[in-house]
Amino acid sequence: MAVVYRGTPISQGVALGHVLTVKELFLNIPQQPPDDRVAEVGRFCDCHRAAVEETQSLLENAKICLGKDEANILDAQLTFIQDEFSVIEPIKEAIVEEGLNMAQAIDCVLSKISNLFRQADDEYMRQRAADAEDIRRRLLTHSLGLTEQNYSDLPPDTILAARNLTPSDTIRMDLAHVSAIITEQGGYYSHVGIITRNQGIPSVSGLNGILTQLQDGDEVIVNGNDGTVIAQVGTVERNEFYDLLRHQREEAKALERYRFADSCAADGTQGLICANIGNETEVSRVLEAGAEGIGLLRSEFLYMNCGQLPSEEVQFQAYRKVLEAMGNRPVTIRTLDIGGDKDLPSLPMEHEDNPFLGCRAIRLCLSHVELFRTQLRALLRASVYGNLHIMFPMISSLDELHRAKAILDRAREELTVEGITTAPVRTGMMVEVPSSALLADTFAKEVDFFSIGTNDLIQYTVAAERGNPGVEYLYTPYHPAVLRLIAMTANAARENGILCGMCGEAAADTALLPLLWGMGLREFSMSPGAVTTVRSALAGIETAACEALVPKILACSQAKDVKELLQKQMYSHLVG
Ligand code: PEP
Ligand code: MG
Repeated sequence: MAVVYRGTPISQGVALGHVLTVKELFLNIPQQPPDDRVAEVGRFCDCHRAAVEETQSLLENAKICLGKDEANILDAQLTFIQDEFSVIEPIKEAIVEEGLNMAQAIDCVLSKISNLFRQADDEYMRQRAADAEDIRRRLLTHSLGLTEQNYSDLPPDTILAARNLTPSDTIRMDLAHVSAIITEQGGYYSHVGIITRNQGIPSVSGLNGILTQLQDGDEVIVNGNDGTVIAQVGTVERNEFYDLLRHQREEAKALERYRFADSCAADGTQGLICANIGNETEVSRVLEAGAEGIGLLRSEFLYMNCGQLPSEEVQFQAYRKVLEAMGNRPVTIRTLDIGGDKDLPSLPMEHEDNPFLGCRAIRLCLSHVELFRTQLRALLRASVYGNLHIMFPMISSLDELHRAKAILDRAREELTVEGITTAPVRTGMMVEVPSSALLADTFAKEVDFFSIGTNDLIQYTVAAERGNPGVEYLYTPYHPAVLRLIAMTANAARENGILCGMCGEAAADTALLPLLWGMGLREFSMSPGAVTTVRSALAGIETAACEALVPKILACSQAKDVKELLQKQMYSHLVG
């Protein structure tokens, strides 16, 4: 009788294979203090050097065998492990001042860093704990004189089962023979998530206790679409698996024709399907996905990945890289959105009881003008390398927008005086606070575009914190109040002749697409993996039918009615 385990789907696809559990090295940290603290620091320096060399060789390997994104993870680790300020000096200090032995000092300093990341409210930051943990293990392995297990020659159809996988684990592995990866820990934004999605390996995480349930050699089916893992596979499950595999291949083949196609509705009305990214290293995924531009570059990740505030030059290089790679396609870079659920270790902030209602995003930038000015200068300098759109987050009053634009104008004037050329940029704002949606007619006269951030707009409209399971029932883009705010924003954009797009998660919801299209939204920005699906859904809808749907939906008073109505209006009914 088959047994089904349920976890979180993190990389699409299905696979049938045999389990191989990834054994972790047992790191037994000695407790004796060192006889000679200075000599212990010397031993740490040797071990640190070896760990840096290993990271360098993993990086080289990743460049050859995996891809840019994997190499970038290792590149970031290389910077991290060599960080004097947060890694090397604190470890030396712990040895000299606290009398810890080298292994204890490594463990103490890196566990602290990793815990800090883990406690962050933001999912992306939490996943950065994996880097700190990876470096902790690498330094400890060297300091204890141990050797990592070898997974470089795996049998075909291996299903790797692990507690969690670090980037260096995956780089050491023979991924060509790995047909799926299942883990107890890690989420969508974990390294396992990033790597498996990029490599097209089906993956499921959050399978608590799976390592105690499965044994090496067990045959299992992994379904990265719905997050299930089936053990004790029988004929019925095997047949279902082959049906699913066939269906998946047909679907992928059908979607392939939308990869580099125009984004337009069945009646020919043109739109733009763009991608959201977190930093400059992800631009290759955008191009591979066939996105027509970047609708949201969350620039804060550039700040979060640095141990210190990134200089104007560091930012300029990153923005330039993205703009050059994208050619003349639009690239919307959102200015720093820190605060709320995203902390910046290099920028200490006052404690706030309600950080989501506190000094975040544009509010923080307007209270740290120098920080904001540096970013705007870097953006303007990069503007000559492509088609740059600058977007301000969390605008909630006209005064904020005026101040932000004035600082942008001043930065441009300064650069001109310095003899630095800048190109014209389109300036827009996120509509993610109800006040800006309600005042959209006013804002529309002051910006070149709107991009609706449903992730925040929902939480501020229904007063339900994003990511809080206790109030999840309220947190939905189908809530009529949210939809009315979206409609107000789209109307104001249309009346003032500016573009209205969406870059929140709802932009990839194909069930909502006819409604949003009918309201007049014309740019949708989403994770690169969703681009072809949304583009194919768009090709199946008829603009006039979508427009007729809008008043019916806006008359609904409950989310469930909205959902029902949208479900009834299948795409086939909307065409013609
Ligand atoms: C949003 O709020 O919808 C959005 C895209 O911004 P973020 O998720 O980065 O807050
Ligand atoms: Mg937001």
